[in-house]
Amino acid sequence: MKLLKDRILRDGKSFEGGILKVDSFINHQMDPILMKSIGVEFVRRFGHLPINKIVTIEASGIAPAIMLGYLLELPVVFVKKAIPKTMEKMLTASVYSFTKDKTYDICVSRDFLTADDRVVFIDDFLANGNAAIGVHELVEKAGAQVLGMGFIIEKSFQQGHLRLRELNIPIESLARVKALGDNKVEFED
Ligand code: 5GP
Repeated sequence: MKLLKDRILRDGKSFEGGILKVDSFINHQMDPILMKSIGVEFVRRFGHLPINKIVTIEASGIAPAIMLGYLLELPVVFVKKAIPKTMEKMLTASVYSFTKDKTYDICVSRDFLTADDRVVFIDDFLANGNAAIGVHELVEKAGAQVLGMGFIIEKSFQQGHLRLRELNIPIESLARVKALGDNKVEFED
């Protein structure tokens, strides 16, 4: 997706330790016009699947997931990273965070994820695949099925894609970064 790659090259900042900062258009300030194009691209890649719901994880997955849900006219469920005291019929899983270097619990209510659901999972980044694997576990606990996973940016020099391939479902990343240097970003072809 050229529009996205051009934007990463223009406004992305790469850091020591393989972190790409995209705070000015995805992770802090958001560009809704770019987000709309991202939604359209996800429709092109997932629109043919027999899904009835989009699933994402807070916070930065919500914007692209909403765009896809809006375009396909499907509900969007976001998995929570903090366990609310009032949540009923809760399902939980544990996830290790690469950026924060800690393990945290994620949860969703069975009210919004059931055995009837066929979903696509959307997130901002694919790094080592921990968030995606945790959400996949939650969806399976609910008896639902993940039919595809979509990421805005994949860091292909990390293990996520390899690990997710074992799930045998389509994985789509709109920009695949193969190397991050000091203020240098290189994409896969
Ligand atoms: P994973 O679970 O695949 O290891 O990491 C994915 C999650 O970590 C994403 O939801 C994203 O929030 C965060 N993340 C991983 N790498 C980066 C990065 O280079 N930049 C930013 N902004 N977030 C990242």
